[in-house]
Amino acid sequence: MNRNFLSTHFFLFIFVAFLSTSCFTDREVDERMESIKAAKRGVGASSNEILSANKFSSIDLEIQYMEGFQPNQASIGTIVNWMEDLVNKPDGINVRMKSIPAVGQEDYSLDEIRAIEDNNRSSYNSGSELGLYILVLDGYFDEDTETEFSLGISHRNTSLTLMGQRILENSGRVGKPSKEKLESTVLEHELGHLMGLVNLGSNMLIEHEDEEHDHHCDNSHCLMYWAVETNVLYNAVNNDIPVLDQNCINDLKANGGK
Ligand SMILES: [Zn+2]
Ligand SMILES: [Zn+2]
Repeated sequence: MNRNFLSTHFFLFIFVAFLSTSCFTDREVDERMESIKAAKRGVGASSNEILSANKFSSIDLEIQYMEGFQPNQASIGTIVNWMEDLVNKPDGINVRMKSIPAVGQEDYSLDEIRAIEDNNRSSYNSGSELGLYILVLDGYFDEDTETEFSLGISHRNTSLTLMGQRILENSGRVGKPSKEKLESTVLEHELGHLMGLVNLGSNMLIEHEDEEHDHHCDNSHCLMYWAVETNVLYNAVNNDIPVLDQNCINDLKANGGK
């Protein structure tokens, strides 16, 4: 009898424990699914969330690189410092970097890039922390032409991709910038798009969008000039990392930035 009593209670305990665990998990699963959905909006849709502290007080920056294409630690330091000067995140920017298996394709379509992200990304909005994701590929972008190709792209509200093979081929040799400088430049440019530049979520205080290149700045010395993310800028000269011009800075400030 005593034994039955104990075992009944034991099973009741297990049952209740199971129920409460399962309810808690359901709620967590719901929140997670909402966060994943929230990360599938267009570029610029999270510009205010990235710039201001209204909804998120910190950023969880996840960087995943295909084996052999690890970004330089110094580049990561450079872009985090750059962001910290622009965004209102009192609880900081936390970086996590890890490798994922190389896929080995020569080039990747947008759909393929997004599928790789969906299979590997773990950083999604959670509480007051905003999830941001950088993927470094082992190949090229399949929309490149013979004469113009992408070094990086921003393709969702909190997602950007670096074309690792292009970065390697266009840096660290005579007449080319260092790998650190090139990847920092391209990452900052793509992050600028996620922050809503130009006219992509951060409204322009003064008209400065390039008429021939949507969502880029008309100032050829600005970080958000269109050629910065392509081979065009770096083919000839070994430039410093371009900085944002005053028009771009003003747009970020007006959208919640520092
Ligand atoms: Zn661009
Ligand atoms: Zn500009």
